[in-house]
Amino acid sequence: MEILAIGRSIFDLFFPIRCLNCDSVISQRNPLCVTCAADLPLTHWNMDQYNLAFEKLKPFCKIQSAHSLLFFRHENVTQKLLHHLKYLNHPEIGYLLAEKTIFDVDLKKFDGIIPIPIHPKKLKKRGYNQILPYAITLAEHFQIPVREDILIRVENNPSQVFKNREKRLNSIQNAFGLTNQNLEGHFIIMDDVLTTGATISTCVNLIHAKFPKVKISVMTIACGV
Ligand SMILES: [Zn+2]
Repeated sequence: MEILAIGRSIFDLFFPIRCLNCDSVISQRNPLCVTCAADLPLTHWNMDQYNLAFEKLKPFCKIQSAHSLLFFRHENVTQKLLHHLKYLNHPEIGYLLAEKTIFDVDLKKFDGIIPIPIHPKKLKKRGYNQILPYAITLAEHFQIPVREDILIRVENNPSQVFKNREKRLNSIQNAFGLTNQNLEGHFIIMDDVLTTGATISTCVNLIHAKFPKVKISVMTIACGV
């Protein structure tokens, strides 16, 4: 036992696990230290029409309700979490954040979750669509399907980070398509972060153009402020 403990200390000495926010050494394989985890910028929103996510999307598309778990600011902990989820092969961050979301929302009444798809080239490079760990965990908890068979990505856009809303809208409008699947009911469109709302509103409008009676709500892990 003692030898094991010494061995672990030596391992930690050379390969310390660090909090991805404050860089302090942590003992377990969590993304954050206890202090940073307790300090997450949670929105505490309900899934409804009285929050910033709904306000951002309302001018551009018709949705029933919206929810985001975290506030997203330049270089805040949310940005670091999403960066690790998206680019540094940490899908477990999606599972952990979904477990927090379960306290905010009840998704049993919905007919399914439609994740925003990423282009096959990005999928091949990244290995997974970054929103799926989050989507799958919530879908399993509330026993609703994840509908990856509705939206398709048809054009690989360059990074959207530095474009303004108008430029983003122009480049994103041809980036998605619909499959031949039929759709009826109330669905949740899900993405990692809501900033200008260009991507999400494009997908909502695309679905409504073909299925005007389908109700759509929106969930994102984070909402830019
Ligand atoms: Zn920390």
